[in-house]
Amino acid sequence: MKRDGVLAGVDLGGTNLRAGLISPEGQVLWRHAVPTPQRREPERIADTIVHVLERGLKEIGADKHHLIGVGAGITGPVRREGGVALLSPNFGWRDVPFADLLRARLPAGVPVCVDNDVRVVMYGEWQFGAGRDLANFMCVTVGTGVGAALLLNGRPYYGVWDAAGEIGHYILDPQGPECGCGNRGCLEQYASASAVEREAARFGLSRGDGSPMSAAEVAAAARAGEPRAQKVLARAAAALAQGLAVSANLLSLESIIIGGGLSRAGEAFWGPLRREVGRRVMPIHRRRLELVPAALGDDAGVLGAAWLAGWQSGLIHPQRYDTRMPATGNSTHGREGG
Ligand SMILES: [Zn+2]
Repeated sequence: MKRDGVLAGVDLGGTNLRAGLISPEGQVLWRHAVPTPQRREPERIADTIVHVLERGLKEIGADKHHLIGVGAGITGPVRREGGVALLSPNFGWRDVPFADLLRARLPAGVPVCVDNDVRVVMYGEWQFGAGRDLANFMCVTVGTGVGAALLLNGRPYYGVWDAAGEIGHYILDPQGPECGCGNRGCLEQYASASAVEREAARFGLSRGDGSPMSAAEVAAAARAGEPRAQKVLARAAAALAQGLAVSANLLSLESIIIGGGLSRAGEAFWGPLRREVGRRVMPIHRRRLELVPAALGDDAGVLGAAWLAGWQSGLIHPQRYDTRMPATGNSTHGREGG
């Protein structure tokens, strides 16, 4: 049974619900995206997820009883123990026991894991993508909001509330625009796709019919040489760079992996980002630090969520997972016999 089992991954975004099925070896068997339902009651979303997975299982000649684990990434902070969505403004959810809702719709005994959406992207990049050989990196997604997840000393870093990585709420200007978190001048007010759209309108950029441009259209205009679009992206990149530089100085990272819509904006975004990070990061950290685009694109979350379910069920093990205890004191251990 186990040999025939499949792992399911779900990436529940505000716009799209992506789902995939993988083998325990990490081979993608099926994947699919549907628009996220407009009605966002947790029960309804759980129903939709299970229907989508059933369709996929049918397409690969299996059914719900072949599932050996289901993982899901959702926006906002998630208490991993129990899989509770603590606060998801996109969905209007608060303290939703989402893992229980999925479990109730699956055969008894199928393990279900729920984690934050950026963290499942990090798991995917760590095991299958741009983070494969790394032990200290931050994964950042720049979309509607800006989020991050951390791998430190070869292990995921969660923090006391499982909520580490809120780089989008790093305060750039205490007098700045109001943020959904209740503070002012947070990074995501300057560096997200929503911020780019707002700035583009302020700079007088619009579509031919006068309607507002999407962030992707601003990026396309920048690539075509439109100077105002280039300026908007450069400003977003410079704001993001401040948060990245603080993180690199604080955590001594070897890589920052950047995904999400704006990461596909090309040189108009990456050029100023690299320049500004290079200028802001301390020399000792700059020597090793690389800024790289996410390798898996839209698949990262689905792969990472499915992998998480396999990991938490003990079916698969992380590559390069560092289980050593941290060294204490000024031990000369490392030099002995070398
Ligand atoms: Zn904020």
